[in-house]
Amino acid sequence: MNCEILSVGTELLLGNTVNTDAAELSDLLAGLGVNVFWHTVVGDNPKRLAEAVAVARARADLIITTGGLGPTYDDLTKNVLAECFGRKMEFHPEEAEFLKAWFAKNASTKYTDNNMQQAYLPENCTVFHNDWGTAPGCAFEEGGVHVIMLPGPPRECVPMFKACAVPYIKGLSDDVIFSHQIKVFGIGESAVESLLRSEMERMQNPTLATYAKFGEVMLRVTAKAGTQSEAEAMCRPVVEHVRDVLGDKVYGVDVPSMEALALGIMRERGLTLSAAESLTGGLIGERFTALAGASAVFKGGAVTYCDEVKAALLGIDPALIADKGAVSHEVAAAMAQGVRKAVGADMGLSATGLAGPDGDGVHPVGTVFVGLADGDTVYVRELHLGSGRARIRQLAASHAFDMLRRYLQGLDVVPEQYIPAE
Ligand code: ATP
Ligand code: MG
Repeated sequence: MNCEILSVGTELLLGNTVNTDAAELSDLLAGLGVNVFWHTVVGDNPKRLAEAVAVARARADLIITTGGLGPTYDDLTKNVLAECFGRKMEFHPEEAEFLKAWFAKNASTKYTDNNMQQAYLPENCTVFHNDWGTAPGCAFEEGGVHVIMLPGPPRECVPMFKACAVPYIKGLSDDVIFSHQIKVFGIGESAVESLLRSEMERMQNPTLATYAKFGEVMLRVTAKAGTQSEAEAMCRPVVEHVRDVLGDKVYGVDVPSMEALALGIMRERGLTLSAAESLTGGLIGERFTALAGASAVFKGGAVTYCDEVKAALLGIDPALIADKGAVSHEVAAAMAQGVRKAVGADMGLSATGLAGPDGDGVHPVGTVFVGLADGDTVYVRELHLGSGRARIRQLAASHAFDMLRRYLQGLDVVPEQYIPAE
């Protein structure tokens, strides 16, 4: 099935709003085995929207629109699509009741007559009730083309897609689509591709595709079969093959992130964590505490940016800093041990380095030392991460989590060769 996402909204064309809906839906559609071949953005203009619909219906079997379902004058998606596909608008009393009740409950939002527009949908459609806002979405089929309309706000669009559009799309085919996400750190996308290119080109069902994520690579294995268990069984050998080829650079399958994986393992083992951060300025703590349940593991940490604070809070000998420099193997090790002791945690992470744009006259920008300490050993990884301040800081945090997950998985914490992801 070939899909076009038609994002409606002048704010998207002006650059005020980034089209995250299209990105998120594309990612989810890939997992359903739907090929997204086109992203089109069109402003809140009926003529240009109708033109875009004419183009889309000639080339796609599935058109998904986002935005323009609300009550204001510029919300024209439903009316234009209904007209393009020769359908009248139909009043849905149950949606009208819901809207009235919603406004009665949300006293701060005033009900105005135009809100009732939202209870009108193209005739003979499947209604997608909006549990996350007010404007319902819908789906219908006309001349072999399926149309799905979703609201614009991402907090409505994405959950409605998952709850309503996914079952609708699955219902269009007798086949079951199943996919695994293989998560990889420590090797770039082009290197992964060159190792797996022939398989990726050859495979039809299941398919194998790579996606570059920030500092990581994700591979998706997708199979189509008559039943879920058949599709799962088809994916299994491919996952094994990828593990064989990429080795322990694969940190997990169907896990959200390295930090989430580490949190799960540490919770299970009753281990606690701390972090001493210089160039990352709290990013390690931020990423870890963004995870629900982090409090069971993360005890705390310190942002120790200047030398005096490294010495005062982490108990590092100022002479060591003076002798080796703040950006050094030795100081990264002392930071990881120091924070572990100061906080009373089982493990300590640390990061010190040069995020740039200015260097320190000794090391080039992008030189980073990341440390990991338990009660006995301190591991330090020396990295050369190139340029770009935000990039270097995020990659430094990612390496800290990679060291942690490798430690927890019983692998070498500091492997000999590390190819930074591009
Ligand atoms: P509402 O009932 O809120 O008006 P709607 O379906 O009419 O919903 P729009 O009016 O098109 O949606 O957009 C509402 C807001 O949602 C926009 O101001 C924008 O912030 C956000 N939004 C719209 N489309 C997208 C998109 N494709 N990606 C990310 N955000 C979007
Ligand atoms: Mg709107």
